[in-house]
Amino acid sequence: MTFEQLELDPTLVRALTEMGYAKPTTIQSQVIPEAMSGRDILASAPTGTGKTAAFLLPISQHLLDFPRRQAGPARILILTPTRELAIQIGDDAKRILKHTPLRVEVITGGVHESQHLPALTKTTDIVVATPGRLLQYIDEESFDCRDIEMLVLDEADRMLDMGFIQDVDRIAAEARWRRQTLLFSATLEGKGLTSFAADLLKAPVELSA
Ligand code: AMP
Repeated sequence: MTFEQLELDPTLVRALTEMGYAKPTTIQSQVIPEAMSGRDILASAPTGTGKTAAFLLPISQHLLDFPRRQAGPARILILTPTRELAIQIGDDAKRILKHTPLRVEVITGGVHESQHLPALTKTTDIVVATPGRLLQYIDEESFDCRDIEMLVLDEADRMLDMGFIQDVDRIAAEARWRRQTLLFSATLEGKGLTSFAADLLKAPVELSA
């Protein structure tokens, strides 16, 4: 299996080649076609399996396939438990999107609000955020989830362990006009995760790395 066979845009494949990604990992070749078909995804994929590109590639392809019609808030929201992960995902997204006009912004706790102004005031495509700080901006009405088309939950098991379940539920409710949700977790075991996934996903395809 090659990235070309996954029918990814040549601008994305070119970036992957430059990043040294020769061929898709197992989770990437499983997730990418299903996500591109529009299905919700429930994926068990620990760190190290290539899970980040497994969600970044189909969302990037979606943004290229369906161009934005007018300026507005973000179209894709990625929630992840920690600031370090958010920065890492933001960096990977920037590398994958290098040859496209698409933009990425990161919103996390632990930094001054002024650093989030580009994400909050300018048109962007992808926002990567930790739940607490994003919810603060939603409550202040400085971030609007109305135009979110796809929601990605990264390391869902850790978000539950860290007590973010209510925050994530509230954000998912704000993003209720989305058409697709992708959930990634190191493990799919545990009652908490099962009911969390059942609430947020519609007839998901279940995949594991
Ligand atoms: P992740 O599981 O997303 O944290 O990725 C683990 C590591 O594998 C990261 O350093 C990625 O840059 C790298 N990686 C992801 N996908 C590929 C691929 N298809 N080929 C080579 N390296 C990859």
